[in-house]
Amino acid sequence: MKNSPTIARLVRRTEQWRHAGPENAPPKEAPVLRPRALTSADLIGDGRRRPKVIVVGSGYAGLGVLQYLEARLPAHAADLALVSPVDHLLYTSLLPQVAAGDIEPRHLAVSVRGTLRRTVSHLGHVTEIDPTARNVTVLSRAGVPFTLAWDRLVLAPGAHTRTFDIPGLAEFGLGMKNLAEAVFLRDHVLRQMAYADAAVHEAERRAHCTFVVVGAGYTGTELAAQMRRFTMKALAQFPRLRSDQVRWLLLDLAPKVLPELDEHLGIGASRVLRERGVEVRLKTSVQQVRPDSVTLTSGEIIPTHTLVWCAGVTPNPLVSSFGAETVRGRLVVDERFRVPGHAGVFALGDAAAVPDSTRGGVPAGQTAQNAVRQGTAAGRNIAASLGYGAMRPYHHRDLGFVVDLGGADAVANPLGLRLSGVPAAVVTRAYHLLALKAGTNRAYVAADWILGALMKPRTVQLGFLPPPHATIAQVEQTELYQA
Ligand SMILES: Cc1cc2nc3c(=O)[nH]c(=O)nc-3n(C[C@H](O)[C@H](O)[C@H](O)COP(=O)(O)OP(=O)(O)OC[C@H]3O[C@@H](n4cnc5c(N)ncnc54)[C@H](O)[C@@H]3O)c2cc1C
Repeated sequence: MKNSPTIARLVRRTEQWRHAGPENAPPKEAPVLRPRALTSADLIGDGRRRPKVIVVGSGYAGLGVLQYLEARLPAHAADLALVSPVDHLLYTSLLPQVAAGDIEPRHLAVSVRGTLRRTVSHLGHVTEIDPTARNVTVLSRAGVPFTLAWDRLVLAPGAHTRTFDIPGLAEFGLGMKNLAEAVFLRDHVLRQMAYADAAVHEAERRAHCTFVVVGAGYTGTELAAQMRRFTMKALAQFPRLRSDQVRWLLLDLAPKVLPELDEHLGIGASRVLRERGVEVRLKTSVQQVRPDSVTLTSGEIIPTHTLVWCAGVTPNPLVSSFGAETVRGRLVVDERFRVPGHAGVFALGDAAAVPDSTRGGVPAGQTAQNAVRQGTAAGRNIAASLGYGAMRPYHHRDLGFVVDLGGADAVANPLGLRLSGVPAAVVTRAYHLLALKAGTNRAYVAADWILGALMKPRTVQLGFLPPPHATIAQVEQTELYQA
């Protein structure tokens, strides 16, 4: 009984913490920027009302901008609004682990409402930008269009899966860019294993158990390695299937695995793929996709019902829709994130070609690392454009990359250090836990990993998305921007 006041205090604190506001908000005492005299270049808007900042996209870049502005810009300096079709930031780096059943989908979704305090959040897609009238058209999730006026527009709508004009790809290819696609792929693979388990003919069984991944960049490589491991573990629950009947193929037109990263990472990942039994076909892509086969550029026909397309991303078409200059679909911006010729418009993240001063001004890579850092840097420059603080050019030195191949296998080069195996896996997982923006998500993901290591794999399908609606265009809603 002596301890009861302490326990009561503990319970009270826990309750206060659970019911408190944003869990991931920057500390209240973060220094607020001081106003400076505005120059004529800063004055966009009628100067009488409070300027309105609209951020498009709740990814790493957009959310980063708003977090900075909420923390550093005085509340009276601007009204903040967000437009995004989702109410979360998706921690994409761990998406292959959702497909492989290691992480529950909700645990990668960092709540916008748990992160921002004073931003008004509009659920919907921006479908049109009018830089002259300075407004955007939003299509709400209910399909109702409305307009929002802005004085500063921040474009961070990310990218979609890049597809090519390959016969059958649009109809039968699966993507790996969002939670719906990851959950669908897991279901789809389990469905194929169930069909194979019940199949009468060997050829039919093998076709159901053959899975083709195109693109040996970090997404495709992580996915093939982790999914192979997942299907081998799941085999125990399909008594009529043998391990030699399960095939995973990883294809890429490039001559090596992880072509865009440090060679050490590619060599290490290739070794793990080989040891796991993933068939890697380099300098090879796909010529045609059918519901029951894939024809490779070599002419070989692979009987399969699964093609996952991870061959890169293309910037959201929204950014090329209002007449500003683009380079390979990415909006051209200066090193302060400003869109030339469109006063008050800023862009960043995957959708923008932000000059990388450490690489002679070529566009920075489309990575989470860049998007996160650009969020803070752009936030500072947007505040400066409103008369608070000073603008600075974007400058970021690459800190290395981590590639999680599932289980105790990973490759990583943090700060130039070359790691593989268990040390790389430890660094990789620690990095992801740190990089996840909210404590709750961190705890759930860590718990998923611990439970996953101790328990049998769960092979139930969720069936949220019926197969005919799982095309890349439908799941990623790319048709929204077609005139
Ligand atoms: C499977 C996968 C694994 C990855 N792994 C890594 C990794 O390990 N390391 C790494 O550095 N990078 C990784 N990336 C890349 C990284 O996810 C991107 O570079 C990063 O997400 C870009 O951030 P962003 O904010 O520009 O875009 P996103 O994070 O894609 O966010 C875009 C936001 O805009 C919203 N949006 C889209 N259209 C509209 C619209 N019309 N109107 C309003 N809002 C809109 C979206 O809903 C989303 O909220 C991975 C990507 C994928 C798909």
